[in-house]
Amino acid sequence: MTADVRKQAPYIFYGMTMSLCEECLDLVPAKILIEEQDVYYQKRCAAHGVQKTKVSSDAAYFKSCKDYIKPGDRPLQFQTKIDYGCPLDCGLCPSHEQHSCLALIEINEECNLECPVCFAESSPARKSQLSLEEIEGMMDALVASEGEPDVLQISGGEPTIHPQILEILALAKTKPIRHLMINTNGVRLARDKAFVEALAGFAPGFEVYLQFDSLEKGALENLRGVDLRTVRRKALENLEAAGISTNLVVTVKKGVNDHEIGAIIDFALGYQCVRGITFQPVQDVGRNERFDKNRDRFLLTDIRRAIYEQSAHFQAADIIPLPCNPESISIAYALRDGMALTPVTSLIPQEELVKEVPNAVSFERNLDLKKKVIDLFSLSSGDLNTAERMESLLCCLPQVPALEKLGYENIFRISIVSFLDRYNFCLGNVKRSCIHFVTPDKQIIPFDTYNLMYRNGEVHELRKRKRPA
Ligand code: SF4
Ligand code: SF4
Repeated sequence: MTADVRKQAPYIFYGMTMSLCEECLDLVPAKILIEEQDVYYQKRCAAHGVQKTKVSSDAAYFKSCKDYIKPGDRPLQFQTKIDYGCPLDCGLCPSHEQHSCLALIEINEECNLECPVCFAESSPARKSQLSLEEIEGMMDALVASEGEPDVLQISGGEPTIHPQILEILALAKTKPIRHLMINTNGVRLARDKAFVEALAGFAPGFEVYLQFDSLEKGALENLRGVDLRTVRRKALENLEAAGISTNLVVTVKKGVNDHEIGAIIDFALGYQCVRGITFQPVQDVGRNERFDKNRDRFLLTDIRRAIYEQSAHFQAADIIPLPCNPESISIAYALRDGMALTPVTSLIPQEELVKEVPNAVSFERNLDLKKKVIDLFSLSSGDLNTAERMESLLCCLPQVPALEKLGYENIFRISIVSFLDRYNFCLGNVKRSCIHFVTPDKQIIPFDTYNLMYRNGEVHELRKRKRPA
């Protein structure tokens, strides 16, 4: 008789987190499993059974994220208390671990498009808009929480069609807000040159966050419902002519526009006004027509790989985790000289970033360098001090190209921002969320949880199923 032979598991059990049941959104335990290069959450819901979902396609990068974490900055005040437990107490509740690096205020629900992918479910039929008084109350709530908020993004709906948009931006400029952005689909910017010229009056400290998913007709029709190629080019021409700092934002859907990532980077470099690109995997919330979990998900690590495989400008080591929220945001900074990019990370010896040398002089220099890198990479968007912080970092590096004086126009930024949804939700990550909505009732709610369960009121049902902690 032969003894049974024990078998090794076909994965590495890397740890545990709490995620969401993909059916009922209840908080459920999730095993973190590594299978070759892929990382999965294996969840178990008492009502809906086992669910297994890929959360990373690069296990080495996934593991490296924790090396970059820096202490969070606490907001000055919290708006809610802990009653039901995370994520049902937003927010911000005292259990949140990061302030608002970037806050959004949605000033209307109306839009001049009706995109098949829209977390806010906006459309021309939704007419509601906030008054100037309501918006000022939200700005003041943000200032009370942050002191001097880093970045406020005016959003919607389509904010450029709010009848008081210029007054709203002017109002924001009276507040102690360091950097102001407007999030737009570009339709009005393409058609109304005088409006773009009026926007230029809000600089410095002003940036346009321009939806820019694709250079191709088919992908635009899939994501936006219409061919916006002409609109996007015209909007960019008007922004270039007005000299307005612009960040392109690309929603990435697998098989639709993931092959265009390198081409979009090259296209962006043709415009001096474009200071960066943000790539976002589709978050499965709101209106997300024909979305199939197994077919359409494209992960942060898939985008990161596509950048260094499709773009001659970047290598893998150039795109690193953002220290305040490393598992959800990756970032690369490059020095820009016209169309030429020199990624900053490529100038830093890797051993300087990850190892501490046991020699007193090197050790001090090393920590100083690492601190500067972490400072530099700590904001995801539009910070005006970036040029100063970049100059301070470059002083420490051995092979810096000779740029006479570093200005904001000499810095190019690539960000990958992966919001949490029912598939990749992680209780640890959501507490590090640093992109928040300010709501009309003056709460500050992480982007991830707001779109998942607060915007549509589902949180009330979830709370009913759970007794107060
Ligand atoms: S996500 Fe943050 S604000 Fe919301 S309940 Fe969790 S800790 Fe609190
Ligand atoms: S995604 Fe933006 S442009 Fe499209 S419908 Fe929604 S708010 Fe409008």
